[in-house]
Parts: sequence; C-alpha cells; structure tokens
Amino acid sequence: MGLVYHKPGNDTFQLKELLPGKLKEGKLIIFSAPSGAGKTTIVKYLLSVIPEISFSVSCTTRPKRENEIEGKDYYFLTEEEFKTKIKNREFIEYEEVYEGRFYGTLHSEIERLWSQGRHVVFDIDVKGGLNLKNQFRDRALAVFIAPPSLKDLEERLKNRNTESEETLKIRIQKADKEFSYAKDFDAVVINDNLEKAKTRAENLVRSFLRSE
Ligand code: 5GP
Repeated sequence: MGLVYHKPGNDTFQLKELLPGKLKEGKLIIFSAPSGAGKTTIVKYLLSVIPEISFSVSCTTRPKRENEIEGKDYYFLTEEEFKTKIKNREFIEYEEVYEGRFYGTLHSEIERLWSQGRHVVFDIDVKGGLNLKNQFRDRALAVFIAPPSLKDLEERLKNRNTESEETLKIRIQKADKEFSYAKDFDAVVINDNLEKAKTRAENLVRSFLRSE
C-alpha cells in the first residue's frame, strides 16, 4: 500500500505514482524580513545544517549582483520574460518588490523540490511570505526576521555595499512599513545576535518539521 494522505475535507487518497520516500506535498518554510535584517545569512545557515530542506529559487528582473549565480540565487529574467510568466499563470506568488523590480515564485520550483522529497525554504518579501502562508496555512511556517532597530538596519545595508544612496533610502522606507506586518507571522526572530538568531530559527524549523 502506498502513502495515504489526508486532504483538507478528510478526503483520503493514495499517492500511487510516487516512489517510496518522495513527498508529493512537502512543507513550506517561509523567511521574510526587511532587506538587510540578516535573513539570507540565516537561511543559508539552515540549508547547511538541515538536510531535508532545499531553497526555492525565485525569478527576478533586478540585475544580477557580482557574486550571484543564475539558477542558484535567482533565475534572472527580463521584464518581458517575467510578464509572460505572469500571463501564463506560472507564479504561485509574485510582487513588484521595488518599483520596476519584480520577484516571484514559480509553481514549478516548489513542485521540483517536493518531487525530490524536500521541504521548501523561501527567502521572500513580507507580502509574498504572507501570501504563501495564506495559501498553505498549517503546511507553512512563516518566520519574520527583525533587525533590532531601523538604525541598525541602515548600518547593515551600508556595510553590505550593494546599494546606491537611492536604493538604500528606498529599502529603509520599505522596512519601516514591513515591521507592521510582523504580528501576522507564526514567529518573529530578532536578529540582535546572529548566532542566537540562527539557533532560534533552527529550533523553530526542526520542531515544525517534526510536527504532523
Ligand atoms: P534582493 O534584491 O535583496 O535579493 O531581494 C529583495 C527582496 O525581494 C528580499 O526581501 C527578498 O526576500 C525578496 N524576494 C526574493 N524572491 C522573492 C519572491 O519570489 N517573491 C517575493 N514576493 N519576494 C521575493
């Protein structure tokens, strides 16, 4: 007998087409935060210590940064390519995170990782994170990573050296708004100390993966 799944509504069906051990529908672990809060560092750490999880590679229309790899950090698309995917309903969620800069998660990306028996980890903006949480409810853990203060965030963004004066200002303004959504997440991790924040996030994820 194959795996028996309970869909919402108590409908029971079997996943005959799947190889043993593969998840048709795994879990989602969503990390959202204002840009510069340390989310990407925490997500990278989790990927290195929890073997059951894999990173959902998003599409974006922003230019590739020097250290980034196509297909690993993002799928870099032109605005036209991105809009075609919107039209073809290929995104499970997408946002114009900054003016003229689109970011989105492909249905096919989640399915690709689930078919490999992995749970999927997202590094996405606050709106996108809550959108996924609303779609997947108990199958998703939504974690908000908060910097200790806006001042601290500004310092980190400056030190990161990836932003111009203008994009720095835009990111800070956006962060201010994003803080107000923290209460809608399942958990908030304050990144005042990176090692502690990593451990706290790891504990959250491990206990979520253990839960039914
Ligand atoms: P960055 O340009 O710094 O890589 O990312 C900017 C913001 O876009 C970050 O908050 C990042 O988490 C978010 N982001 C990355 N991928 C996606 C996605 O697929 N959907 C949404 N909604 N936001 C994303």
